Amino acid sequence: MKASPIPQLLVVLLLASINSRKSDPDASNTASFRSLAIDGQFTSHDVSKAAVDFGNRYHFLPLAVLHPGSDTDIAATVRHVFQLGPSSRLTIAARGHAHSLQGQAQAAGGIVVRMESLGKAKTMRVHAGEGPYVDAPGGELWIDVLKEALRQGLAPKSWTDYLHLTIGGTLSNAGISGQAFRHGPQISNVHQLEVITGKGEVLNCSSTKNAELFYGVLGGLGQFGIITRARIALEPAPKMVRWIRVLYSDFASFTEDQEKLISAERTFDYIEGFVIINRTGILNNWRSSFNPQDPVQASHFKSEGKTLFCLEMTKNFDPEYPEKMMQEVEELLSQLRYIPSTLFQSEVSFLEFLDRVHVSEVMLRSKGLWEIPHPWLNLLVPRTKIHAFAEEVFGKILTDSSNGPILLYPLNKSKWDNRTSAVFPNEEVFYLVAFLSSSPRSSGQDSLAKALKQQERILEFCKKANIQMKQYLPYYTTQEEWKIHFGPRWEEFKQKKQAFDPLAILAPGHRIFQKAVASL
Ligand code: FAD
Repeated sequence: MKASPIPQLLVVLLLASINSRKSDPDASNTASFRSLAIDGQFTSHDVSKAAVDFGNRYHFLPLAVLHPGSDTDIAATVRHVFQLGPSSRLTIAARGHAHSLQGQAQAAGGIVVRMESLGKAKTMRVHAGEGPYVDAPGGELWIDVLKEALRQGLAPKSWTDYLHLTIGGTLSNAGISGQAFRHGPQISNVHQLEVITGKGEVLNCSSTKNAELFYGVLGGLGQFGIITRARIALEPAPKMVRWIRVLYSDFASFTEDQEKLISAERTFDYIEGFVIINRTGILNNWRSSFNPQDPVQASHFKSEGKTLFCLEMTKNFDPEYPEKMMQEVEELLSQLRYIPSTLFQSEVSFLEFLDRVHVSEVMLRSKGLWEIPHPWLNLLVPRTKIHAFAEEVFGKILTDSSNGPILLYPLNKSKWDNRTSAVFPNEEVFYLVAFLSSSPRSSGQDSLAKALKQQERILEFCKKANIQMKQYLPYYTTQEEWKIHFGPRWEEFKQKKQAFDPLAILAPGHRIFQKAVASL
């Protein structure tokens, strides 16, 4: 839906009226927005929408929403707020698709920049040939990047499980999925960025130009600049995918097999896994598109409420030559120790596989189960601690997995670049463990409170048992906690903030830095 414009004077009045107390310096500061000539528009009717995210638990009303008509609009707005100096309380949050969980893309009393509006002004360009790449606007959804690249038979290398997220949003975190063991997270697959810093400067950066900004922004939680364009590596896209799921009842065999697969030269193209706790009839719940290898044996398998571990893999192939893929899959499967009757397979197009979570989104939306609170917790757990973690968490702290999936799969640290701002454990292999809970309103506040309590217990256990995990999509409320999160890299992070956003205007929703406001 297109946002209806409000005349600029109205914006000025709106901004001024909210700050109309005589003693309030923002009253005159915001009135100065009158001088901004922009291609897009500021709106106020949609501020409540800009105070909602996927987590659906935190709602901070901004003063106005900027729908940029160009990146110049963003630069002019940031520069203006920067020039207002510490006498203004205004902050600015880039909003991608707002799939944040705790208000990270919100700006209380500030300006929210709707990055998706940029897509209309900035076009996507795919460069085929040697070393292919795509230049895409920061507010572009990954699903649209994929569709554009596929037109030339190409695709990005590293993904998230869900593609209706923006480039700027995932590159501000890391962007992890089952391809990351081989290609690294999405932030390891970027050649160049165009960034608007907290001073309103527009800078191009890469590993050789403005490298400090480039690596700072990747995984930088939006703290150093707003990404308006990214150049992303592409590779030839496969046509079809063989999609395989197998079950384990033994955690050690499950993780050993996962680790064997992610370290092998010849292996699957995507490797993930999930945990199933106390769920009966699990095989019947699997997607109808999956077929058991042996229907008779599969029908005899009883989960009996046991904790099970599902290994999920894919192998890409060309439908005209399936034999090679079939042989490779057979060879790889023969080395694994899953429960033989639980081998399920399916064949889908590459696009269908990558966009698989969207199918669930459509279904959940139709049942009113999408726009509900999502108390998610994502952890990166070192390999040497994963058994202690699993023993305590699965079955003891969590007694069922019916409130949402629990993903668990290993990643290779060698594919992560420690010059980026992303924070990850210091071990060669670490696991993503994602508790993706939903709290439907029909289950009342109890289900949200219960999920939050369980998370608290998990975090307490991690501390007590010295699990040395790092939060992914981190959420903290004090700077002390952020310091612990960044560890020895905190000083560097702070220095970069001072260099690129010295007034702490950008991404206030993370609560890492507080804008210093002069008391007049
Ligand atoms: P937003 O929520 O809008 O923004 C996130 C942060 O980035 C904010 O601080 C915002 O200010 C900042 N930001 C946004 N745009 C820009 C920009 N252009 N420049 C600078 N800063 C910007 N993550 C994974 O890694 N792997 C997954 O498989 C995965 N699956 C998911 C599935 C679902 C259903 C959901 C809801 C989330 C999933 N995520 C996953 C998490 C997701 O990567 C993050 O929530 C991400 O921040 C969402 O992107 P967004 O575009 O909605 O960003």
